[in-house]
Amino acid sequence: MFIRILTVPSPPFAAGFVIRKGGSLVHSGSALAPTRTGALLQALLQGLTYASFSNELRIFLPDRSISESIFTTSKHPFLFLSRALIDQMILFLSAHPLHTIIFHRYSVKWAGLPDKSVFQELTERAQLAVFPLTPHSLLHPKDVLLQDLQEEYIQTIRAGQVWKSITLPDGRPPPFIQGALSRKDRRTFAAAIQLTTRHAFDKWYSDHMRRGADDNNVCPCSEPLPPSPSGSSHSDTLGFNHLMAEFLATHSPPPSPRGNLPRHQRQRPRPRRVFYNTINHVLYTCPLHTSPRRRIFGLRPSEDFIFGTFEGGSQLGAFQRATNRLLRPLPPRPDPP
Ligand SMILES: [Zn+2]
Repeated sequence: MFIRILTVPSPPFAAGFVIRKGGSLVHSGSALAPTRTGALLQALLQGLTYASFSNELRIFLPDRSISESIFTTSKHPFLFLSRALIDQMILFLSAHPLHTIIFHRYSVKWAGLPDKSVFQELTERAQLAVFPLTPHSLLHPKDVLLQDLQEEYIQTIRAGQVWKSITLPDGRPPPFIQGALSRKDRRTFAAAIQLTTRHAFDKWYSDHMRRGADDNNVCPCSEPLPPSPSGSSHSDTLGFNHLMAEFLATHSPPPSPRGNLPRHQRQRPRPRRVFYNTINHVLYTCPLHTSPRRRIFGLRPSEDFIFGTFEGGSQLGAFQRATNRLLRPLPPRPDPP
């Protein structure tokens, strides 16, 4: 990972990062901050969130003061960034015994620095973000439109709400889409798009778009429904039990007025642990998929990595094929005993 200052009218200062694995570009990005050191540290922090694809991470920094800022844990102006960086590095190092991080220092004056064109593109985008006011009256109407589109794109990416799957203003598909397409598998590609547009087979979609359809939104890793007291499996009873279990799981019991009762009468049933079929649950935490998650993503994947990189898009497809999750609706829940 290379970290560099980008040339923009400052302040604010802009810094970029470029990550390569072998010969291929994994990701790039930039950060703005009121100071030069702040921008470099922010760029490094952003880059580290994509560090889940390799055992050995080599970080190239432009000067020594940056590495000193990272590892100074006494009070200094960038302590909150140092803390976040150290936490991120500990997360990476503790995920596997083979994981290592090596810091290098380089000079921006060196000839043959890599990725000049990528840094140039990052600089242009940062300049547009810092100083977007080329007078419209001097531009061709088509260029005005393109400039507006680029500004909107940058704002959308920054907002982070849309998962970086929208096509770049110059017409290139973003890395995530290219990665999802690389598997040449129509089903997982369609599912990848569904995940980014929230038209997926998950709880959010059922709640908002399929009200009354009675979709099963409870992940199979949840504890089974308790047995029906009457032994009946009538659907009304099932529905009531289900609601009751959800109520118990989400409401802590009120202060007990039964404090004076004998102990055996005071005990309440332990709330059933319910996990819903949400995108976040399936991708990041569902215990049913720990093994394929580790095997395919290598480490706890970040949203930025999965939905922001070529590798992320491709690995998402592999994960969905391996787990068969978020590709189709969940089957109905089995009746309680
Ligand atoms: Zn689960």
